[in-house]
Amino acid sequence: MKILVISDIHANLAALNRVLDDSGSVDAVWCLGDLVGYGAEPNECVEQLSLLPNLVCLMGNHDAAVVGQLPLESFNNEAQASIRWTQQNIQPHLLEFLKNQPTLRIMGNITLAHASPRLPIWEYILDTETARINMEGMQTPYAFVGHTHQPVTYSKNGRKWVDWEIPLIGMPTPFPKYGIFNPGSVGQPRDRDPRAAYAIYDDTNQTWEARRVAYDISTTQKAILTAGLPTRHATRLNEGW
Ligand code: ZN
Repeated sequence: MKILVISDIHANLAALNRVLDDSGSVDAVWCLGDLVGYGAEPNECVEQLSLLPNLVCLMGNHDAAVVGQLPLESFNNEAQASIRWTQQNIQPHLLEFLKNQPTLRIMGNITLAHASPRLPIWEYILDTETARINMEGMQTPYAFVGHTHQPVTYSKNGRKWVDWEIPLIGMPTPFPKYGIFNPGSVGQPRDRDPRAAYAIYDDTNQTWEARRVAYDISTTQKAILTAGLPTRHATRLNEGW
């Protein structure tokens, strides 16, 4: 099966649509959470995602805040403004959809978590030590996570230490013995590449392919500014930061 792995859409419809189009035909979509927050198109994005066949979806920290399961104070002022705006503007059935998503799922030999297998809503896996600790506690040899908005692969191959690499774009790479994979962010990339990030997981060949695709950033920026959301959520899209 060819599985589209996405994360951190953050209510950016142009980016989401471009990714769904660019990924071509897939057998399933695994979404690692943060469908909303920052952006101004939560209804369009959640609706679009909820209609995808064979969707597996998680709740991210922004989603959890919007549905009232995380205190707003745990976010910076600008993120809080977007969360409040989303709470006021999201349609009830789409809020319900967000509410019904779990924070962690196990799919065969893969743990899916928004942030980390250990702390699915909160922990940023930004270094090999955090990756190693998570690998040791995992029930599966592999995990797919989002949350940092930076594509990365952590791998462990029989030695004590964990390696990391930024995966090459468009190169299906065989799985290591143990691994944690992050596809990056569809709607708010933060690795200084403004293109939408996603990955293709081939569960037959056990390969991970990182991908990037450019989208019309100005449409998303216009929507954010028209909604009166913090301008930084729009301007930073140009930098991918
Ligand atoms: Zn996020």
